[in-house]
Amino acid sequence: MSEEKVYDVLVLGGGPGGYTAAFRAADLGLAVCLVENEPVLGGTCLHVGCIPSKTLLHAAAAIEEACQASEYGIDFPRPQIDLGRLLAKKNAVIQQLAAGLDGLCKARKITRLNGYGCFTSRSSLVVTGAEGKQEEVQFRNAIIATGSRPFVLPDIPADPRIWDSTAALHLKSVPERLLIIGGGIIGLEMAQIYSALGAKITIVEMLDQIIPPADKDLVQPLFLKLKKHYSIFTKTKVTKILLAADCIEAQFAGTNVPEGGQFDAVLIAVGRRPNTAGMGLVEIGLQLNERGFLQVDERQVTNIPHFYGVGDVVGEPMLAHKASHEGKLAAEIIAGYKAELSSSSAQTKLMHLRYELAINPGAIPSVAYTNPEIAWVGLTEKEAKAKNIEFDKGKFLWGASGRALSVGAQMGVTKALFDKANGRILGAGICGMNAGELIHEAVLALAMGATARDIGRTVHAHPTLAETFAFAAEIVDGSITDALPPKQR
Ligand code: FAD
Repeated sequence: MSEEKVYDVLVLGGGPGGYTAAFRAADLGLAVCLVENEPVLGGTCLHVGCIPSKTLLHAAAAIEEACQASEYGIDFPRPQIDLGRLLAKKNAVIQQLAAGLDGLCKARKITRLNGYGCFTSRSSLVVTGAEGKQEEVQFRNAIIATGSRPFVLPDIPADPRIWDSTAALHLKSVPERLLIIGGGIIGLEMAQIYSALGAKITIVEMLDQIIPPADKDLVQPLFLKLKKHYSIFTKTKVTKILLAADCIEAQFAGTNVPEGGQFDAVLIAVGRRPNTAGMGLVEIGLQLNERGFLQVDERQVTNIPHFYGVGDVVGEPMLAHKASHEGKLAAEIIAGYKAELSSSSAQTKLMHLRYELAINPGAIPSVAYTNPEIAWVGLTEKEAKAKNIEFDKGKFLWGASGRALSVGAQMGVTKALFDKANGRILGAGICGMNAGELIHEAVLALAMGATARDIGRTVHAHPTLAETFAFAAEIVDGSITDALPPKQR
């Protein structure tokens, strides 16, 4: 047992939400103890999420690009894939980033405990290490950042051929026929990786479109492209999975169901559940909502005032940048940042916007790293309609963009929505090459409350894909010259 030291902040969970909170709190002069069950920091994002998936997606993109180069008169032989070397690259990227986090943590003199944490009171937590050794930590404030785990469908048998996203990222082999249950971002990213490596992909999605939260017209170019390579069934459910020695048989229900139903592996990608069980949360009186997420207010405060929650454990959207943003916010509030909010400096205005961001998950960008990428921020068209907000829409098809045509990305689309009441941007969406990078201009426009004229009058370099955002704004502003103005269409 440690001496009677009482930490200013105890952070439970060392993913992007937890380590960001711990680092920021330490930088603000607080004594911090960071507890993580795994021997390494980084959480889902670094070890079995964002980073490994993006590394493998880069390899998939290289394979696809090599095949498409023939359009430009360049012919490569069929790529030879060495799974061992691909995995080694993925692991090297993870190790490098994990080592970086270790260094950042040490340099800040944060006390780091490796083990499973369980609250025993509102001021103490017991950490159980790998060999059962227990240590008690006393604290004044706690930040819970325990993340999430894959949702397990009921009645699906356990079998090494039935995967969740973590198993899929281990890439032990490439099945000939892969069934993916769930047409959301994770399912589609995995489809892209395994398709490039040679698997025949079937995707079933219960709702009426892939990537259900995004607008259908934004997703359409991706859907049309993927349909040429995969079998995709929307409004379809898997009703039964049967294990045979040489295959997995799946049964479906829906308007249009896959024929055959035999696969070599099945990936279940139907969402994630918060990690809240077995760590004393309910026992010390913390409130979970009906879906099991830790309940917090817009400042990440739980029903117990000195307990905060950040990241996946507090709910959607389950994204690393949301987790880290919330982690910083919680640390700053514990450090007394409230005072800065009441001053009237420009810095305060930005802080105020950040607080609004924390309250409004709709202002956090979402990206599907598919090919083409899909990215959106703020209100989607369907959300604006559901909220009865009147808007003007600018939609620019990339077929009229010189850069898009040059790089073979003419199937893309950029759209932006502006509030009819005050002219300010409400949301934007991009489908196309590098959409995940391009969306950040819209994120900034949203944070600064830009109008269509502000965006249209901002000089964009030519020829770039970024121009398409300005063109979408110019359509609403009425000043477009790279397409016909709306009145003449
Ligand atoms: P986590 O990263 O899950 O970290 C929680 C940590 O808490 C874990 O390390 C866990 O070991 C630890 N822990 C839990 N309970 C305890 C306990 N009692 N004691 C001690 N330690 C504990 N997001 C993006 O923004 N972009 C992407 O491209 C992206 N791609 C993804 C791809 C996949 C395949 C997956 C699965 C997720 C992806 N995500 C992506 C989501 C992203 O990984 C999560 O939103 C993010 O990791 C959440 O961070 P967190 O800190 O809340 O939780």
